[in-house]
Amino acid sequence: MPELPEVETIRRQLAPLVEGRTFRKVEIADPRWTRPLAPSEVEETLTGRKLQRLGRRGKYLLWSFSGDVHLAQHLRMTGAVLYDPHPEPRHARVVIELRPKGRLVIDDPRRFGTGELLLGSEALKNFLDARLGLEPFDERFTVEHLKGIVRGRRAPIKALLLDQRRIAGVGNIYADEALFMAQIHPLRASGKLTGDQLARLREAVMMALSAGIDARGASIDDFRHIDGMRGTFQNRFLVHLRAGEPCVRCGTTIRKIVAAGRGTYVCESCQSPPRKRRQAASRSSSRPSSAAA
Ligand SMILES: [Zn+2]
Repeated sequence: MPELPEVETIRRQLAPLVEGRTFRKVEIADPRWTRPLAPSEVEETLTGRKLQRLGRRGKYLLWSFSGDVHLAQHLRMTGAVLYDPHPEPRHARVVIELRPKGRLVIDDPRRFGTGELLLGSEALKNFLDARLGLEPFDERFTVEHLKGIVRGRRAPIKALLLDQRRIAGVGNIYADEALFMAQIHPLRASGKLTGDQLARLREAVMMALSAGIDARGASIDDFRHIDGMRGTFQNRFLVHLRAGEPCVRCGTTIRKIVAAGRGTYVCESCQSPPRKRRQAASRSSSRPSSAAA
């Protein structure tokens, strides 16, 4: 799923091509995209409107139009926004003709992507506030803020990083990368992290996201640029998807574990596991017969 760097990449590529242009014609072929509204309602509202600004918040692409009309678009698993694509993509869900020129196609084979219409800045603010915590690049995203997020929480830190209502924009890739950079095991209890660890984690989250943006996102599945090209951050992963390979820092073999229900990559030398996990590991290694059973 596209995360903050992937959505930001699309925004940066697209904004100069679409800002100031009018949506001349809007065709939404998939009622799932606009639910609970009917596609015709969204088509009618957007047709003839000038796009004033293409923004981003967390993993949402925010289209802001004349008349204080907004569309919050989420790409989910396989959504892509393509500009003047040739040939026509096979899974076009939304087609937008621009004036004076240009054509946008939202291609989404698995159809999980959404476009939610929000009338007025307040509706937009309420929509985002209900779903998203601070952006990691927000100046209010301080170590103190992070301390407030983790205080008293027993959930593993990876689960907290993935929770969009606490921190906006971090997904499975960048959580793994940031935790490795900060040398924190993904299963560590959030509330038990020290001030030093949280300070390292804050820096690491920003560094991982910045590196992702610099590489124009990671294409490990369907993520595509507006011209259909792929990002390059997948070639620079430190741990993510690198199970079986040596750690770039210490040479220990990177392992794949499950944290927060997600496949998670970790160097258990650099990222020392919590005690419970160490005990479980030593129990299973001291009783090979039960492990084999
Ligand atoms: Zn290591």
